[in-house]
Amino acid sequence: MNEETYDVIVSGAGPAGTTAAIYTARSGLSTLLLDKARIGGALGMAHQVANYPGLGFKEPLSGAGLLELMHAHAESFGVVFRPFQVYGFELSTEPFRVITATQVYQAKALVIAAGARSRSNWIPGERELVGHGVAYCATCDGPFFADKDVAVVGNSEEAVTEALVLAGYVSHIFLINPTSRFLAEDGEAAAVTSNEKIEVLFNSTIQSIEGDGAVTHVQVAGPQGAQRAVPVQGVFLYLAGNKPATDFLDGQLTLDQEGYIVTGPELDTSVPGVYAAGDVRGNRLRQVVIATADGAMAAMAIDRRLRKRAKLISQR
Ligand SMILES: Cc1cc2nc3c(=O)[nH]c(=O)nc-3n(C[C@H](O)[C@H](O)[C@H](O)COP(=O)(O)OP(=O)(O)OC[C@H]3O[C@@H](n4cnc5c(N)ncnc54)[C@H](O)[C@@H]3O)c2cc1C
Repeated sequence: MNEETYDVIVSGAGPAGTTAAIYTARSGLSTLLLDKARIGGALGMAHQVANYPGLGFKEPLSGAGLLELMHAHAESFGVVFRPFQVYGFELSTEPFRVITATQVYQAKALVIAAGARSRSNWIPGERELVGHGVAYCATCDGPFFADKDVAVVGNSEEAVTEALVLAGYVSHIFLINPTSRFLAEDGEAAAVTSNEKIEVLFNSTIQSIEGDGAVTHVQVAGPQGAQRAVPVQGVFLYLAGNKPATDFLDGQLTLDQEGYIVTGPELDTSVPGVYAAGDVRGNRLRQVVIATADGAMAAMAIDRRLRKRAKLISQR
């Protein structure tokens, strides 16, 4: 099979990967950007992005719209975009090899920017009402729910932290916790239970999200299965099951306990020449600005690495 060769291959064309590609291409490095979907990932799900500096504050801008701008920007600098899923890598020798269904590619450096996949199991009503009351990020969407009543669903540290962020915007929060405690630091759990805006519904599970075009209420099963309709205009979901997209690494890079890629200060991974950027490395704050900053940092580290190597070779 003919193997195309690039200086850099970026896996994942979300904001992290696309930014990395823009920077490497602009540095004169031939760059291939691979993604299984032209518009996908976390940003592809965002109904409205209003906190990316310079964009989305005058005219509403969807995540898909922002991605289209980013991809057009990358291609204008000569980035080659291919809509292929990456199935695996060979990282034991250089150049590295990247495997897709129809083609194997080679590169001197790689950026893994495959994001953190979302759950595959949807709550009834969730899919239809994403962007119409169903949300996943308090920092992103909290301001759209000013003075409204919302539900927060989950018992993780993320659910607790996000509820506290939301309390700064909304009128009242029903925190639907499927268990009798929180999987969070004691201080944060106490901050939630003592917050006068937050009403915790322990041992309760969300059954469905209801509304015709916009969320009006959620159906909740309480202890002993008692059913209850809770009136809310928004639902923020923090359910177990979000997973970094790192299965395809097949144990070749060091991951943390939750499967996120472990990175050094230059976003370098356990294999020199392979970098990780964005949600795939488990950033505490998952935002477009963080992902783009990661992409830029990884790209500049690659630029330094490849220039240094080229200089060493020319001195031989
Ligand atoms: C509903 C929602 C709303 C949000 N709203 C905002 C907001 O308003 N403001 C904000 O700043 N942040 C927001 N975020 C967070 C933000 O979208 C993410 O932090 C950001 O997109 C992370 O960028 P990324 O490039 O790391 O990952 P992603 O955007 O998830 O991109 C990863 C890419 O990798 C691709 N990929 C995965 N596996 C493979 C593979 N095997 N082969 C090829 N390609 C692959 C995916 O298709 C995807 O395109 C929101 C998130 C969600 C879910």
